[in-house]
Amino acid sequence: MNNDYQAIVIGAGNGGLMTAATLAKQGIKTLMIDKHNIPGGSASSIHRGRFEFEPSLHELSNVGYDANDPNCFVRGLFAQLGADVDWCVEHTELYHLVIPEEGIDFSLSSNPEKLIMDLEKEAPGSAGPMMQMLQLGQEAAAAYAYISSKDFDPDKLDELYPHAKTMAGHSIKEVLTAIGMPERAQAIVSQYWCYLGATATEMDALTYFRMFVSYLAFGAGMPRLRSHELSLALEKVVRDNGGEVWYNTPADKILVKDGKAYGVRIGGKDYYADNIICNAYPEFAYSYLIDKEEVPEKSVKLVNARESAMNLFTVYLGMNKSDEELGLKHYTNFIMKTSDTDEQARLSSMDRANTSAVILNDLNKLVPDCTPEGTCFLFLTGFSFGHAWDSITPEEHQKEKERAAEVMIRRCEEALGIEIMPYIEEIEIASPVTFARFLGTPNGTPYGYKMNKWDNYIQREVDRDADLKTIDKLDFVGAATRVGDGYSTTYLGGYETAIEISEALKEKGEIQR
Ligand SMILES: Cc1cc2nc3c(=O)[nH]c(=O)nc-3n(C[C@H](O)[C@H](O)[C@H](O)COP(=O)(O)OP(=O)(O)OC[C@H]3O[C@@H](n4cnc5c(N)ncnc54)[C@H](O)[C@@H]3O)c2cc1C
Repeated sequence: MNNDYQAIVIGAGNGGLMTAATLAKQGIKTLMIDKHNIPGGSASSIHRGRFEFEPSLHELSNVGYDANDPNCFVRGLFAQLGADVDWCVEHTELYHLVIPEEGIDFSLSSNPEKLIMDLEKEAPGSAGPMMQMLQLGQEAAAAYAYISSKDFDPDKLDELYPHAKTMAGHSIKEVLTAIGMPERAQAIVSQYWCYLGATATEMDALTYFRMFVSYLAFGAGMPRLRSHELSLALEKVVRDNGGEVWYNTPADKILVKDGKAYGVRIGGKDYYADNIICNAYPEFAYSYLIDKEEVPEKSVKLVNARESAMNLFTVYLGMNKSDEELGLKHYTNFIMKTSDTDEQARLSSMDRANTSAVILNDLNKLVPDCTPEGTCFLFLTGFSFGHAWDSITPEEHQKEKERAAEVMIRRCEEALGIEIMPYIEEIEIASPVTFARFLGTPNGTPYGYKMNKWDNYIQREVDRDADLKTIDKLDFVGAATRVGDGYSTTYLGGYETAIEISEALKEKGEIQR
């Protein structure tokens, strides 16, 4: 059969974009399609009045300053592809934590010595354990890099990284307790959990410690024109290298026969390709895109066994005052009701208008000219566990979104001692229902499957070939894969998938360039 393309990528989210850009750059004849009219999935753009809101990105890890440093692999990947991005990096503090109910108001400095000293003052006895946590974090980062390298040999892991498996098999809480971290210090350093979607008793310490030291050492990245700059830069690489990009183009079907994918049906027409890469969720592909008899039972069992990660509730605010005038001092503010992360998760499943954990980002702190002079953009994010939004009617939805947004804004005002409400010029609100409709993910989660101590990066990596690679020539990329959610991970997963495909094509002598 003469194929139309060497690769068809379904979905132009982070995973799909990075895969398509890398494939095209390697000279592979690539088509990327997306059902929306712009690229990016979560990494897109919302315009309201004189503001362009950032829809999703708070902090991008592994950007740093040096494209040649393997720890700054996101900067490196974009540089390698020739994808132009004007990076800003927040590297003064990790986050500002406010828990009024427990008298906590603490900023975590990005300077490790200062962080250890400040924490010791706030929670006496924490200095030694904090140093140990940072050492373990460095080991976790090195183990991660080793596990995803070509040289990875599971039998050598213990010898090279003696604590890696223990961290992978124990929760953040278990490891912090084992190293003697006082409770108050544990509460302070565990709050990044909300970036990963599993609480301190569920999340494996390996993934968490690695992320913590990465933000500490390399800060948090943000493109000057926000996340859509990333999506547009990758899309340009696809086009500049001869790839095709079709928007407003949903995939109707992935064509599979005898366990092998061979094409995609689009608008009633079949397009044939050597490789199919799917950025839509595996549940969606198995339920709607692939003929039932071609869906391997093993894959269905795997996705059913995995738990969907949490949902988000976000409020985007264009303010008619500057952030200084509003009295905001920090880029990332974590405003929690309790330091107990399980309790935060429990409370967030009880009421749609919940404020057990809210992140307030003041984007102008990182990109001062991201809004017109004298204004600023605030980005409020809350969590939604459970099914509070499932049963809502279309009539109730708008009212409930507004109620929940107001409760969230009032909470931020009280916790930070500032006024927000009188100065709102533009507002947009996204509930889990909004995300479900836009992204097409189960319950609207942008976070894929929950990582925890029985299903985490090491386990998925060790069993890499079994993990969703059960149909020949069909790969999944994006948050709902072994790499998990987030910008850096979905980019890395997309890149690795493209390289595997291009190496296989090279071996067959089928690469043009
Ligand atoms: C509010 C919010 C805040 C976040 N904050 C951060 C953060 O600070 N740092 C961080 O690292 N991560 C953050 N994330 C998570 C991160 O954005 C996601 O994990 C990541 O963008 C997911 O990428 P993905 O490759 O899975 O693609 P997705 O964003 O899920 O996009 C998938 C694409 O596939 C398309 N598609 C689906 N089905 C089809 C079909 N049948 N045919 C054609 N196209 C289809 C969709 O239209 C979409 O464009 C946040 C997410 C949100 C929503």
